[in-house]
Amino acid sequence: MDAIVFDDFTWRLDSEEVFQKVRMDPADEEAQTLHRLIETAWQMGRPKTVFRECFIEGRTDDTVVVDGVTFRSRVLRVNLEHAQQVFAYVATCGTELENWARSLDDMLEQYWADRIMELALRQALHHLNEQISQLVPHSKTSVMNPGSLHAWPISEQKPLFGLIGPGTGRIGVTLTESLLMTPAKSVSGIRFATEVRFESCQLCPRKDCPNRRVPYDRELYQTKYAKVS
Ligand code: SF4
Repeated sequence: MDAIVFDDFTWRLDSEEVFQKVRMDPADEEAQTLHRLIETAWQMGRPKTVFRECFIEGRTDDTVVVDGVTFRSRVLRVNLEHAQQVFAYVATCGTELENWARSLDDMLEQYWADRIMELALRQALHHLNEQISQLVPHSKTSVMNPGSLHAWPISEQKPLFGLIGPGTGRIGVTLTESLLMTPAKSVSGIRFATEVRFESCQLCPRKDCPNRRVPYDRELYQTKYAKVS
């Protein structure tokens, strides 16, 4: 199946949410400036996403082969134990917003623009997940993102982008030499059906992470992912 690109979907930028995210009272004297930025961002922003439905062709202890592309991660391999189909994806806030944010001189406005881009990326992910849910309507799904864990390092961006193909370029997302994505407010990953919810945070000991979704489970790697010799 070819990759499917969504580069022109309806998205919303909720002023209230932006104000909450930047912790600003709407009565603040700077509020008008923020309202102006929100309006500009919404007019010009084009969050985008691409995904490709793929099929698992083989497995070893530490690898999984998806449509001819080999991924090296014990955790990914175990998480895909019962999957036959996966969805490789990239979502982004879009180059329009990133270029706009770069054009801002004021540091506070740059900070606000950053938060706005995060909300745009969230909308792209929401749109993506809605599309994938239509293809697997009765399944719970989880995701893994290359680079979010030592157990699936950032070097795996290359095979992931290779698997998705030219669609990543069509949404304007490229990899730097260090395999980070530009625009920076982009996310790549593999979504898969699973009965048991997986979150990378379960295996991540990082303290005080503001984005933590679930607690660290210090026993989980040993009980579920370590190889039995
Ligand atoms: S705890 Fe934070 S750094 Fe660790 S996987 Fe979760 S979101 Fe990422």
